[in-house]
Formats: sequence, C-alpha cells, structure tokens
Amino acid sequence: KIKDKYVQMIFASDMDEKVLLLMDLTPMKKYENLKKDFIANVSHELKTPLAAMKLSLETLEEECKSNPSAGKFLKKAMERVRYMNQLIEDLITLSMLESVNFQMRPVEIKLLPFTKKIVSDLSEFAEKKGVIINLDIPENAVLSVDEKMLHAILKNLIDNAIKYNRENGTVTVSYRELKNEVEISVCDTGIGIPRSHIPFIFERFYRVDRSRSRKLGGTGLGLSIVKLAVEKLNGEVEVESEEGKGTCFRIYLPKR
Ligand code: ADP
Repeated sequence: KIKDKYVQMIFASDMDEKVLLLMDLTPMKKYENLKKDFIANVSHELKTPLAAMKLSLETLEEECKSNPSAGKFLKKAMERVRYMNQLIEDLITLSMLESVNFQMRPVEIKLLPFTKKIVSDLSEFAEKKGVIINLDIPENAVLSVDEKMLHAILKNLIDNAIKYNRENGTVTVSYRELKNEVEISVCDTGIGIPRSHIPFIFERFYRVDRSRSRKLGGTGLGLSIVKLAVEKLNGEVEVESEEGKGTCFRIYLPKR
C-alpha cells in the first residue's frame, strides 16, 4: 500500500533486461470493500425477519403438540431457521474479520474461565451426544489478544470437535507455553478427516461430507473463520488427523 493507493508490483528479469510493472489496484480494492460491506449489511438485514419467523414457529409449537405430523414439519422448519441464523452469524463474523475498519483490541484474557464459558454454552449439544470435554489449561494461563478473535477460534474448534465426535467421545482443550509462542490445541476422538481433504478444509463452504455437515447444522464457514482470526493474531493453525481415530487442531500464537 502506497499512500492510500493499493499497488501491485510485478518484477521480471532476464540476462539483458529488468522490468518493474506497477499496477494500481485501488478501484478493485474499493469494489472488494464495498462487496464486504454489502454482505455484512445484508446479513444484518436478514436477522430481523428471521427472528420474527423463529418467534412465530415457537408460538405454533404449542398448537402442534396434538398433531404429530404438523409437529414434524414444524421441527424441520425450526432446524432450517437455526441453520440460517448460524449462517448469518458466520457471515457477519467473516465480514468483521475482513473489514478494513476492524480494529483489534487486545485485552488480558484468563484462558481457563474464558474456555469454561464457551464449553458451558455448548454443553447442551455435548451432553446430547454424551461427549465429555476435558480442559488441560493451567489456572494462571493469560493471553493478551482480541476477545472476539479468541472466542471465534475456540468456539468453532470446540463446536466441530463435538459435532464430528463419536457418541460418548471426548474433547480435550490444552494449553502450553513454548519458547516463543503459546500452543492451544483442541483434540477429539471423532471420525477424523481423510488425508486428501485436509488441504481444503479451511476454504469457505468446503465440507468433507456435505450432507453430514448440514444435518449437524454446519455452515461450512467455521474453519475459514478460525484461519482468518488466527492470521489476524499473527499466529498459525495446524491440523493432524487420523480417520476413525480423531483430529487435533493446534493454534500457535506469539507470546506477548
Ligand atoms: P462445518 O460447518 O461444515 O463444520 P467447518 O468449516 O467448520 O464447516 O469445517 C469444514 C469441514 O471440515 C467440515 O464439514 C468437516 O467435514 C471437517 N471437519 C472440521 N472439523 C472437524 C473435526 N474436528 N473432525 C472431523 N472433521 C472435521
């Protein structure tokens, strides 16, 4: 970026000549930002009618108690509303992460209570599957990072670790300090990810098994949010997985 202008430099050289090409990318960047704002605005606009739909469906729930077949359709409609709600939330998070105006606000976060809160928000979902969540995080672990980023990372990884786990499986969230960075890992005892799919799982809307992900309420955006948030924190994310055994996602963040 040179003085409010986005410029791409292309350098080519051979034995006799050297060429430096400068391309002004400012109009393209402006268009890109407009598009991101548009997605964020549309997502916010969709929230209101969806909330109204949810309310109407909840009101109908009582009426349908005596009519099992109507109840079945209602349950389906409620699932779709929940899915759309998640999709909107994920699109808003993605637009926030990509927004040029997004300001990071690092604050001191005590990792153990912070993670406990996320786990408690997901506990109903975990209990339904009999999944046990272990936290191997020292009491004194403190990070200085943007709260929204850390929340997006942990929520999505723990949510996936429950979602793609086996019945009565376990999820372990651990923390350790390395020489120059800290490592947070989220490991599960679930279905694993086939090796050939691993290079693509951080892409938007990529799912190993589309119908399974949909059934579980997945939007296909969780891991792209994780990757973007980790990059914003100048960190890295690694994945190790064995089919039928489980998966470990490891986040490395610079020490403060
Ligand atoms: P989704 O909403 O479908 O879960 P994500 O972006 O979070 O989307 O993940 C992309 C895909 O990666 C998932 O559809 C799933 O196939 C795979 N995946 C992610 N996390 C795990 C995990 N812990 N175990 C097995 N597969 C996983």
